[in-house]
Amino acid sequence: MAERMLQFTKVSRAMPQKRSAKERAADFREIYGEFSPDAAQAQASRCSQCGVPFCQQGCPLQNNIPDWLKLAAEGRLEEAWRVSSATNNMPEICGRICPQDRLCEGICTIEQSGHGTVTIGSVEKYITDTAWAEGWIQPIKPPRERSQSAGIIGAGPGGLAAAEQLRRKGYQVTVYDAYDRGGGLLIYGIPGFKLEKDVVERRIRHLEASGVAFRFNTRVGSDVSLGDLRSAHDTVLIATGVYAAKDLKCPGSGSEGVLPALDYLTASNKVSLGDKVEAYESGALNAEGKRVVVIGGGDTAMDCVRTAIRQGAKSVTCLYRRDRANMPGSQREVQNAEEEGVVFEWLANPEAIIDTKGGKVKAVRASRMKLGEPDASGRQSPVKTGETFDVKADMVIKALGFDPEDLPALFNEPSLTVNRWGAVRVDYATMETSLPGVYAAGDIVRGASLVVWAIKDGRDAAEAMHKAMRAAEQAAKVAAE
Ligand code: FAD
Ligand code: SF4
Ligand code: SF4
Repeated sequence: MAERMLQFTKVSRAMPQKRSAKERAADFREIYGEFSPDAAQAQASRCSQCGVPFCQQGCPLQNNIPDWLKLAAEGRLEEAWRVSSATNNMPEICGRICPQDRLCEGICTIEQSGHGTVTIGSVEKYITDTAWAEGWIQPIKPPRERSQSAGIIGAGPGGLAAAEQLRRKGYQVTVYDAYDRGGGLLIYGIPGFKLEKDVVERRIRHLEASGVAFRFNTRVGSDVSLGDLRSAHDTVLIATGVYAAKDLKCPGSGSEGVLPALDYLTASNKVSLGDKVEAYESGALNAEGKRVVVIGGGDTAMDCVRTAIRQGAKSVTCLYRRDRANMPGSQREVQNAEEEGVVFEWLANPEAIIDTKGGKVKAVRASRMKLGEPDASGRQSPVKTGETFDVKADMVIKALGFDPEDLPALFNEPSLTVNRWGAVRVDYATMETSLPGVYAAGDIVRGASLVVWAIKDGRDAAEAMHKAMRAAEQAAKVAAE
């Protein structure tokens, strides 16, 4: 091992090749290429095979990172893929879009010792992209078919992970989704330059080929009720994500040209998928030739600014009320955005949208902020300095975060318990909600979070759903004897 691994003093950290800012700003393709086989082996060999692997602690899925890095360094990619896919239903997606700097890579021992982290995410992506290319990923054939069934509401990463885990055990699984495609925010939220759409569609096709049934264009709460699903299935999972956009509370926020981020991103993603989107064609959801201001500092804001660049905006400015160090989005994405030409106005809080006589947005007035005392969470609150400034704008995108929808009302189930922010309450040991046999996973439980956490919840919920269905099956057998 010693020869093959621990190469971090000899081999420098390297990411797969990143396309130039000019080239990537002209399309919606991913910005990073793939490692060559030699580069993947070399990068994996930098791992020091820590006795206590902090990287694994930093990964919500507790991925067995040192083992698959060692196998990858030895060129044993099929084994590496088997180890990697044992704990993760979509490693190639996590490898692309996890904020690794805040998870596995941020606490890698060799990063802490100043040598630059092992590029865990890129190796993970390489291993599973290779598995797809080599045909190692085949439709699931459960050891036995079971008659019991699960209904899953939501085809985002939480619902998809649960669907796969249950199907592997032989259950009949139906996934219901309000959208016309599977993937949730993987397909309609996150843009192609972070995650190409065929990577997501390939996962959906894989599940379909494995026997998972999808009912698209089916909104639970209007097209079908939660009660219907509880009657039709032995168990139900709620994995509906969070979609109530936080609004901009300032004068003029209803002006023409002020848009919710997800409307904007969904339209752009649909266009990338080849759909005809009228609001894009009319220009309402197209930034081409416009001065765009995006308000917010999270992942959604970063995706909006970079989408606007690719649509050919005249200028793109991001306003965020705290500073760069205190923004919630990934630093890597800010750097990518800056390279692509986005201007960041840190410590800037919108005070008013200024519009024309016809009610069209023409500028955003912002207060210059400074960081004050830490709040209860320890984060420094921004306070006004008294200075204001205007940024000219033809389009303003509100990317201020999302809250859960009112699910008890939507599902007409007042006994579905939610917390004070509207997130569904679960028993974290089982992910079961206050409704017996109904489980929940992903953003609808945690509030807006990450793909990798949704996958973790989906897997945990599936395990508990399996245990409950197996217990019911055994109880039925005993009763019949
Ligand atoms: P979702 O992905 O939201 O899926 C929920 C699904 O449920 C949707 O398909 C929806 O149509 C369906 N649904 C909702 N209500 C109903 C209903 N009543 N009936 C039927 N179906 C319903 N995370 C990262 O880790 N990395 C990133 O880079 C990243 N970037 C992001 C960028 C954007 C723009 C956004 C908005 C989020 C980003 N996230 C990122 C967060 C991540 O996408 C979410 O945490 C994750 O998708 C949550 O998964 P989920 O399965 O809980 O919900
Ligand atoms: Fe890192 Fe995410 Fe992969 Fe875990 S799933 S190893 S956090 S990239
Ligand atoms: Fe390897 Fe870093 Fe994990 Fe240690 S913390 S096992 S060096 S990837």
